[in-house]
Amino acid sequence: MDVPGPPREEQLLAGLARLGQAVRMSAWRNAGPHGLSPLQADILTFLAGDDRPRRQGEVVSALASTAPTVSDAMRALTGKGLVTKARDAADARAFVLTLTDSGREEAVRVSAVPEPLRAAVAALEPGDLAAMLRGASAMMRVLQERHAIPISRMCVTCRFHRPNAHPEDPRGPHHCVFVDAPFGDGELRVECPDHQPA
Ligand code: SF4
Repeated sequence: MDVPGPPREEQLLAGLARLGQAVRMSAWRNAGPHGLSPLQADILTFLAGDDRPRRQGEVVSALASTAPTVSDAMRALTGKGLVTKARDAADARAFVLTLTDSGREEAVRVSAVPEPLRAAVAALEPGDLAAMLRGASAMMRVLQERHAIPISRMCVTCRFHRPNAHPEDPRGPHHCVFVDAPFGDGELRVECPDHQPA
């Protein structure tokens, strides 16, 4: 049936834009006691994702931002006592960044899913959730390849991912070699600590 109105691709993009707006608004409302901007919150989350100190250039690449923008945000974060900056032992010209104890606490706080978004996700049927994960992974892969978004450690770009390895099993058609287990679209990861690039 042909329904009048813009094509469905445009409808999808309009829906994604609305969802993005909700996520951005939640991030601004979640500024917390340190008045974090969304970028500052993203930097804390990124630094908390790995115990080793990170160079500023790594933050720029991971967040698909620019050096001056990240530099401003880092200055604000060190001023708030959430991040420390020190000379890199491997290269005296470079600096490495580490979370302070307060920074780690803030990273945990900003990582929690805000209530309105949690309620919206909880309203999804399991099949819809799986379809959205599959669709989001496919779109993110293309955008990553075009350097339009930061790199995510997701199944569809992981060397352990075997898509449709079990076509006879509709509930678990894929296989993760890392944990040696089948899984379905509903378990697709868009951020996995065990990811290794394919
Ligand atoms: S290791 Fe993680 S990212 Fe890789 S396939 Fe398994 S679950 Fe997915």
